[in-house]
Amino acid sequence: MDEIKEPKRPLLTFYIIALIVLFVLNLVAVPMYHTSQIQEVDYGTFMQMTEDKEIGNVQIESNKIVFTNSDDSQMYETGIMEQDYGLVDRLAASGAKFSTEIVEQTSPFVSFLVSWVVPILLFMLIGYWMRRQLMKSMGGDNSMMFGTGAGGLGRSNARVYVKSSDGIRFSDVAGEEEAKDNLKEIVSYLKDPSKYKEIGASMPKGVLLVGPPGTGKTMLAKAVAGEADVPFFSMSGSEFVEMFVGMGASKVRDLFKQAKEKAPCIVFIDEIDAIGQKRSAGSGYGGNDEREQTLNQLLTEMDGFEGNTGVIILAATNRPESLDPALTRPGRFDRRVPVELPDLKGREDILKVHAKKIRIADNIDFNKIARMAAGASGAELANIVNEAALRAVRQGRKFATQEDMEESIEVVIAGYQKKNAILSDKEKLVVSYHEVGHALVAAMQDHTAPVQKITIIPRTSGALGYTMQVDKGNHYLVSREELLADIATLTGGRAAEEVEFNSMSTGASNDIEKATKVAREMITRYGMSEDFGMVALETVQNQYLGGDASLACSPETQTKIDRQVVALVEQQHQKALKILRDNKQKLDEIAKFLYEKETITGDEFMEILNRKPEIPENAQPQNPQPNA
Ligand code: ADP
Repeated sequence: MDEIKEPKRPLLTFYIIALIVLFVLNLVAVPMYHTSQIQEVDYGTFMQMTEDKEIGNVQIESNKIVFTNSDDSQMYETGIMEQDYGLVDRLAASGAKFSTEIVEQTSPFVSFLVSWVVPILLFMLIGYWMRRQLMKSMGGDNSMMFGTGAGGLGRSNARVYVKSSDGIRFSDVAGEEEAKDNLKEIVSYLKDPSKYKEIGASMPKGVLLVGPPGTGKTMLAKAVAGEADVPFFSMSGSEFVEMFVGMGASKVRDLFKQAKEKAPCIVFIDEIDAIGQKRSAGSGYGGNDEREQTLNQLLTEMDGFEGNTGVIILAATNRPESLDPALTRPGRFDRRVPVELPDLKGREDILKVHAKKIRIADNIDFNKIARMAAGASGAELANIVNEAALRAVRQGRKFATQEDMEESIEVVIAGYQKKNAILSDKEKLVVSYHEVGHALVAAMQDHTAPVQKITIIPRTSGALGYTMQVDKGNHYLVSREELLADIATLTGGRAAEEVEFNSMSTGASNDIEKATKVAREMITRYGMSEDFGMVALETVQNQYLGGDASLACSPETQTKIDRQVVALVEQQHQKALKILRDNKQKLDEIAKFLYEKETITGDEFMEILNRKPEIPENAQPQNPQPNA
C-alpha cells in the first residue's frame, strides 16, 4: 500500500540546528574573527611607531594597548609597560588620537542586527521555503500547515494511506472469519452509501476491535480500507498525548478535519485505551488533564458528525474494560468486534498466508506446526515463518523445511538455543531426569496431550530443557481431570529428581509456579473444589493481557484457599512420584537415552516406553528345554 508519511517535524529540527549554528558563530567565530584582524606587536615596535608618528588611534586598556596605524588600515595590540610614565605625553606629542572605540568599530545596534537579526531572518526564510517544498512534494495544501502556529505543533501526525490496488485485503487476514463477517457490512456501506441512505439507515460511527495483541486488528482495519478502496488514516492513541495540555485535543480536531475532507474514509485509532481510559472522578488534582481533554475532544468530534458522512472510525484495544463508558455508549463506539486468538484452523491458515511470502519445501505439514503452536497469535505465527526462513538462510539452504518451522516455533516460544551454556555432566543428568519425569508422568495418565519432543539443549530464555506436548485438535473446554493431570505432569520433573537423586534442584521453579496457578484457578475461578463449590472467589481483569486476578473474599477464605491449593498440588505430586517409582526402569532408560542424544522425538520416546523390558543375559529361561 502506498503510504505517505508526514515527516515528523523536520522543520523543528532545522530551526534548532540553525539556532545552535548562530550561537556558535556569535560566541566563538565572531570574536575569533575580530582577534584575527588585530596584529600583536611587541612594546618596542609600539614605541618606535609612536616616535615615527605612525599612530592613528590609540586605546589604553587595563591590560593592553590597542592602536591603529596612521591611515587606520591596520589594528595592532601590545601589552602594558608598568613604568612607562611618559607614554601618554609621548603619544599626544606624536599626534595620536585617544579613542575608546577602536575594537568596537561598529555600533552595538548594528552589530546586533548583523549577528542576530539578519541570520535569524535568513534561516526563517530558508525554513519557509523548505516547508513549501515539503508540502509540494507531499501534494498537500499548505494553508492547513501554517494555520496552527509555529512548527506545526498540534497538527496530527495522521498517516494517510492513499488508495492503491495493492492494499491489504480480507484475504490477507487469515482466520478471524467472524470479525471479517462483521466488518463486511462496513465495506459495503463505504462502497455504496446511497443504498443505506435511501432506507434511512446510518452506519455505526465507531467500531471497536477488541482482542489480544498481535491478532490482526490493525490488519483488519487496513483491509476494510483496502476492500472499500478508501483512504486510511491511522494514528495510535499514545501519539495524541503530548507534553502540553491541549495539544492532543488539537490533534484530534485536525485528524477529523482531514478525514472529513477525504470522506468516505477510515480513521483507525490503535491502542485507544491510551486516551480512552476511564476519566477520574475528581478531575484536576491527580487527573491527567491532557488525556481527558483529548478524550473529550474525541467524543465531541464523534458527536459532531452525522452517521452518514462517510467517516468510519475503527479503534483497537486489548483492554476494553478500561475504556470510559462514554466512549462505548450508542452513537460512538457502539459496535464491538472481537478479534480472538486464532484456533487450530485459523493458525494453519495464517501460517499458510505467511508461508506464501517465503520459499518453502513441498512437504510442509502446516497442520502439525499449527498444533505445535497452540496459543500463538497471528503476529507470533508470522514471526515463526520468518524465523524459519532466516534459519534456512543461516544453514545455507534455498528454502525452509519442516524442521526449520518446528525449530522456529521453539525459538519464538523458548528463545534461541544457547550455544555456549555448558552444563556439567551432573547438571545434564539432572535435567534429563527432570524432563523425562514430565514426559513419563504425562504419558502414563489419561487426559494428557501426547509428548512431541523432549530436549535438554539450554535456551536463551533461561530454560535448561523442556518437554513439548501437542494436542491433537482444538480445545475449548478443559475438564477437571485434565487440569489435575496437568498439575501432576508439571510436578513430574521435580518428582523424577527426588526418585533418582533423592534431592531437589532449583530447576522446577517455573513448573511450581504454573502448577500453583492451575490449582488456584481450579478453586477460585472454575468452582472445582468441594468446600467452595460454584462461587467466584476472584475476578479477572485484562483478560486479553494474561489476566490479573484479584481475590474477592475474606481473609479466612483466603487462608482456606491457600491450604487447599497446597493440598491439591501435593496430591498430584504424590501421584507423579508413584507413577515414576512404578516405572523407574523406563525412567532410567529414557533419561539415559536423552542424556546421550540431548533431543528426542515423541516417537522415540513412545518407542522406548512401549518396548518390552529386556531380559538380562544371565537370566534363566522360565521353562528350560531339556538338553537333547
Ligand atoms: P494487532 O493490531 O492486533 O496488535 P497487527 O494487525 O498489528 O496486530 O498484526 C501484526 C502482524 O501479525 C501483522 O502484520 C501480520 O503479519 C500478523 N498477523 C496477525 N494476525 C494475522 C492474521 N489473522 N492473518 C495474517 N497475519 C496476521
